[in-house]
Amino acid sequence: MNPLEQIPALLARRQVQGLYRQRRVLDGAQQPEQIIDGKPALAFCANDYLGLAQHPKVRAAFVEGIQRYGVGSGAAHLVNGHSQAHHALEQALARLLQRPAALLFSSGYLANLGVLQALMTQGGLILQDRLNHASLLDGARLSRARWLRYRHRDLAHLQRRLSQHDTAHTPTLIISDGVFSMDGDIAPLPQLAQIAQQHQAALVVDDAHGIGVLGPDGAGTVAQYGLREDEVPVLIGTLGKALGTAGAFVAGSEALIAYLMQTARSYIYTTASPPALAHATLTSLQLLQEEPWRRTHLHELIQYFRGKAQALGLTLLDSHTPIQPIILGESEKALQCSAYLLENGLLVPAIRPPTVPAGSARLRITLSAAHEQAHVDHLLAALARLPLE
Ligand SMILES: *Cc1c(COP(=O)(O)O)cnc(C)c1O
Repeated sequence: MNPLEQIPALLARRQVQGLYRQRRVLDGAQQPEQIIDGKPALAFCANDYLGLAQHPKVRAAFVEGIQRYGVGSGAAHLVNGHSQAHHALEQALARLLQRPAALLFSSGYLANLGVLQALMTQGGLILQDRLNHASLLDGARLSRARWLRYRHRDLAHLQRRLSQHDTAHTPTLIISDGVFSMDGDIAPLPQLAQIAQQHQAALVVDDAHGIGVLGPDGAGTVAQYGLREDEVPVLIGTLGKALGTAGAFVAGSEALIAYLMQTARSYIYTTASPPALAHATLTSLQLLQEEPWRRTHLHELIQYFRGKAQALGLTLLDSHTPIQPIILGESEKALQCSAYLLENGLLVPAIRPPTVPAGSARLRITLSAAHEQAHVDHLLAALARLPLE
């Protein structure tokens, strides 16, 4: 039977369920005031939390990188695509994160597939927070290890799951997002590290949304908790969010990095990202230190938004990060509210299942250091008039 023949019916069903996904076309840079689908809109949905994606110094570094290295890397890292810029970026990331070494991947999705495939095999055990990013779930599937989810941030549930297995004799990974991408809350990392040690497991943290935003110099959630390499031996982060460029990295011991380089298929069998991108990202890292006001301003906006939104009677989650969702329940309602905001010149997408659990469709508002308080006021004024009934 030809699976393509089912497509029209499957698409129609998604449309009926309010789950049909569509893209909008952005004209110009990723910034709060944008032209999207030909119309001006004020955006509250990017992960460019520090406003670095269109920072003049990052742009200039990208151009300089192109002049020095050309555009394409031309080969995989292990052939001859690993440039001086990639090498310097790995070292700078390792320094920022206080880890002995780091390894670049072309995206966070690829990093997560590669790490889990490399570190796990059949017979292994993976425990993941139920709200972990989809790429971690896919990595677990690819690894062929047994994998289980524990309830969101529920340490007792994790302990119960672990105690049902002989973790002393089973290679075991506990995996958590640092900041949860759709809820904005933070994982209880010190407790997870302790539980991992008790059960002779290793803790893997994906800090895609914490890097650049939290911790000293924006070193992320793990640094905010002051957790060392023996506590969080595998630290994953992405460059396409607060750092404003693209790509990802894994930071850890020299041995871990050497092993991933030998075995992570999504590292080995793919073309290295453009060297100029690594060159630009080096500038983003410098800006974490040179422009700390970006983090200060961002955290002030977060507090400001939360205070005013709560005063309006809106229910927020326990998030003190730039991700500030408003849970609405059914997909239709989230779509309706998102459409209403867009009519009022505000771009806040509706996030629906399967990205989030059924019945928790939401508006996912994100704030950025590129926003001004007046932008947030504009958003709040529209949220006050949401068609919620
Ligand atoms: C965005 C994200 C990824 C994927 O990173 P990309 O570089 O966009 O592929 C992985 N993990 C988490 C938690 C993310 O939010």
